[in-house]
Amino acid sequence: MNILLINPFSQYDSVNYSFEPNLGLLAIYSLLPESFKKEATILDGAILPSNEIKNEINLNKPKIVAISCNSFNYSIALEYCNEAKKHGATTILGGVHITNSYKSIIRNKSVRVNQIDYLHIGALQNDFSFFIHEVLKGTFSNSYSNILYLPDSNKDSEIIPIPNNYFLDSLDYSNTNFNDYSKFFTRRGNLERSKIIGSTFTQIGCPQNIVNRRCSFCSVPQKHFYRDLDKILIDIKHLTQNHNVDHIRITDPDFLTNKERLSDLIKSLETSFKSYDTKPSFYCFTRADNIDQNIKIIKSLNIVSTFIGYESGSNKMLKRFNKNITAAKSIEATRLLQENNVDVTLGSFIIGGIKESKDTLKETLSFLQKLSKIGNVRSILISPMIPYPGSNVFDRLLSKLEEVNRQEYEKIYYSDDYDLNELIVLWNRYFTNVGIEDLRKTIEDAYEIIPLGMRYLKI
Ligand code: SF4
Repeated sequence: MNILLINPFSQYDSVNYSFEPNLGLLAIYSLLPESFKKEATILDGAILPSNEIKNEINLNKPKIVAISCNSFNYSIALEYCNEAKKHGATTILGGVHITNSYKSIIRNKSVRVNQIDYLHIGALQNDFSFFIHEVLKGTFSNSYSNILYLPDSNKDSEIIPIPNNYFLDSLDYSNTNFNDYSKFFTRRGNLERSKIIGSTFTQIGCPQNIVNRRCSFCSVPQKHFYRDLDKILIDIKHLTQNHNVDHIRITDPDFLTNKERLSDLIKSLETSFKSYDTKPSFYCFTRADNIDQNIKIIKSLNIVSTFIGYESGSNKMLKRFNKNITAAKSIEATRLLQENNVDVTLGSFIIGGIKESKDTLKETLSFLQKLSKIGNVRSILISPMIPYPGSNVFDRLLSKLEEVNRQEYEKIYYSDDYDLNELIVLWNRYFTNVGIEDLRKTIEDAYEIIPLGMRYLKI
């Protein structure tokens, strides 16, 4: 066995909520030529314990280990690199953490060069399989716009903007066992009767990025691409016809923004579903301000479950988050969903933003009471502000530290493996008007109103 594609285990992040295949790795697998696919195995920490992944590395002694990382599981990814290097593997790291922190990794090159060979930055491109080919043959040339060979990189290494050929294929689910994921999946409300859960995506990045409405806490990379509709239709056909999936999660960060595209998707899907004699239900992430103009689309597509980023019950805080929505609008949208029998399976909140005060925290708790009375919000995620690398708030924290606390600034500036709890505490010290204890208490109170659905970190 030559190639291991790994999503590291993480006790936090979305894996404690959704349990679905890592679509980034699945996309990489899908792009490999058939001869390489025979040599490739996906090890997904969403369903495999960490020691099992390490055992697989040691047993299989792979030639290539490609790991998808976020800021929660980067440390564990580095542990896997250490195991892989014992057997002389070539290691390639990609994912949101690498895209957002590659310059920090280069700064820390003297340490990381023993663990990481290549950094894959940004969205996937179709030439990735050629890259793997070259690595296997030992003929890699530095001709890839978004892959850096770490030993040759320097602080001025820049990534050339990614062309629009990022991922032109449909996903190859042939080796994915959806039963393995479905048995962990939490089924609340409308999802109680869903049996086999599958997922796909229709775009990379968030469309808010292209209209300059990026939320201040968001670390979703700023590139944005749509996938071709015909490839999405092929994914849905495979999911429903070959894997008996009856509930499909659309994992886009903001699915309901482009009405024209959605209408085209629905037209094609309706034709497909008639010929398959089946109609799955759907789930999507959405903003509350996309609900009213899309309610017909939501019904036609059989979306029964949503994730809504409410973020706060305080209009002052929503403005500071650059969220471009009001609390009243969010309540209105939730009611509209309730009237149409659509659940908010998870509503998310961030507390401890700029100038958060005891009064704004109270506003969020009373907003939660209102949501609870509507009755279709099944669970919530309420997180302290985590300044993820790549977000506007991370940059703000770094600038503040440079001004007031040189020692902390240098520690973070020269780090690539951040202690997220430490970032929360630092952010809270310089930017909010409440203490960590106030945040902790608000989180406890919030979960008394609507149950916990997912947790990022425990403070
Ligand atoms: S938080 Fe959601 S809506 Fe806001 S920029 Fe990020 S992905 Fe887009």
